[in-house]
Parts: sequence; structure tokens; C-alpha cells
Amino acid sequence: MSRSIWMNGTLVAPQDATVSVFDHGLLYGDGCFEGIRVYGGTAFKLRAHVDRMQDSARRIYLEPPCTADELVDAIEQTIEANRIEDGYVRVVYTRGKGSLGLNPFSCDQPSCIIIADTISLYPEAMYRDGMGVIIAKRPRVPIACLDPQIKSLNYLNNILAKVEAIEAGVLEAIMLNCQGNVAECTGDNIFLVKDGVIKTPDTSAGMLHGITRQFVIEEVAPACGWTVEECTIVPEDLFQADEIFLTGTAAEVIGVTGIDASVIGAGVVGPITLRLIEQFHTMVAGELAERT
Ligand code: PMP
Repeated sequence: MSRSIWMNGTLVAPQDATVSVFDHGLLYGDGCFEGIRVYGGTAFKLRAHVDRMQDSARRIYLEPPCTADELVDAIEQTIEANRIEDGYVRVVYTRGKGSLGLNPFSCDQPSCIIIADTISLYPEAMYRDGMGVIIAKRPRVPIACLDPQIKSLNYLNNILAKVEAIEAGVLEAIMLNCQGNVAECTGDNIFLVKDGVIKTPDTSAGMLHGITRQFVIEEVAPACGWTVEECTIVPEDLFQADEIFLTGTAAEVIGVTGIDASVIGAGVVGPITLRLIEQFHTMVAGELAERT
């Protein structure tokens, strides 16, 4: 349980961390957020998350209430105040208090909220044995409607796909775009391995530009001597894949061994996925060691 919440420049007790019922973040999901992992008391890829936060805000015409440097500082203070060693930080900008009506410019002051707490990952056994997922019937919202690279407070598109997963008895759903191509999952990005080649949908499919995705493409896979191909992926490619894995701040890297009723590859977490999981942890530990 979080001891102190950052609210607009000060740390307050959880019971004092409140927002107005007139906040457009509540009324319309008007705002944006970030989820950041803490390892060994240090926020991982903090700068990338802060930059994406500022970018999400600007894309919805919300002038960030703090500069990137101020946000970094506030996040670090909140982690320290809550003595989080291994956990998770949620950063939220809400549009602020306004009148009833959509106009975001009727709101005077955006809010900045930072919560540092623990996180519940997928069950440990799934990292060893792999996870089952479904392909959601509901498509991912198209870029032209609401670019999924904006991490907005309105996650209903993902939540409703997540409900499809829960109703099917699994924990994650793959989302296709309106062209029927693979985009991402409700809270993770997706990769496949076919004949030794690692592939992932390119960002034009419409997705959150995952920081873990980028870490795997730019650092983890190259450290193993592999490159990642960003390309168009159709559902059939997934069913024909030797391996599939997901990436996310909370999920890290996790293997997928089944989609709908189909078994993927040999039905176990594949060797390339296992090597990437190992390398991921080595590199996280390495970054930590560099800072301490
Ligand atoms: N896609 C969606 C829709 C997400 O919400 C997330 C974050 N939970 C991701 C992908 C993974 O992104 P990241 O690696 O930056 O956490």
C-alpha cells in the first residue's frame, strides 16, 4: 500500500489524494498516463517514459503541468518516500477541473498524480510454461480516430478486449487493426519468431510504441546477436510461428504458447524467447549496477 501520493507538487497521504468530480479526467477520460517499473529502487527507462508522457500530453493539447526534468525529480521523490525497491509507478495527468461539456480549454489547471506501489505480474509459472491468449474480435482503435501511441486515460478499447480474454479464460488478447493486421495486445506488444527471424508489427499498424518493445529491438535482441524485423503481420503468421512473446513494462518478456484453441510452435516457451528473457534480466541488472 502506497504511503504517499504525489499530488501537484507535494506528497500527501493516500486519503488526501483526491480529484474533483468536475475533473475531465474523470468525466471524459481526458488525460494521459505512464506505467514505469522500479528495479532496485531505480525507475527503469525513466527518461523514455517521461518523454512519452510529455508527448502523450501534447498530442491531446494538454500543456504538461511539469517539465520533463521536474517530472523525473517528482517520480524519484515518490519512489523514495514510499521506499519502493521493486515495484511500479503510475504517473497521471488529468485535464483538470472544468465545466460540464467537452471543451478541454474550459479546464483551468491540469493535475499531476504519481503513485508508487507494488505490481502484480502474470503468474510466475507462465514465465516458465508460457501463456495462452486469444485474438480479440474487437479491433484496435485506428490511428485516424485516436492514435494508440497516445497513452490516454481512456483505455476502454483495451478494457473491452481484455474482457473478451477474461471470458475466454486467458489473461491477454491480441488486437488486430481495422485492416485485420496484428497491432498489439491490450497491455503488451507482440513479437513472433519464424525460422530464426524475430518479427514484430511495425508501428504503422497502430499501437503504443512500447518502451520494452524498443528495448528488445534496440538492445536486448542485438546483445544476443539478433535483429528484429518490423513488418506487417497477419493472424496466419502468428499461427505459423515457431515462437511468440509479449513485451511490456509490467510483463517484461513472456512467451505465448497458445492462441485461441491452437498451440504455437512446440507448445513450450521457445529457445529464442528464453534467451531474450535471460538477456533482459541481465541488462536490467547491468543498468542498475551502473547507477549504484
Ligand atoms: N501496449 C499497450 C496498449 C500498453 O498499455 C502497454 C503498456 N502496458 C504496452 C503496449 C507495452 O508498453 P511498455 O513496454 O512501454 O510498457
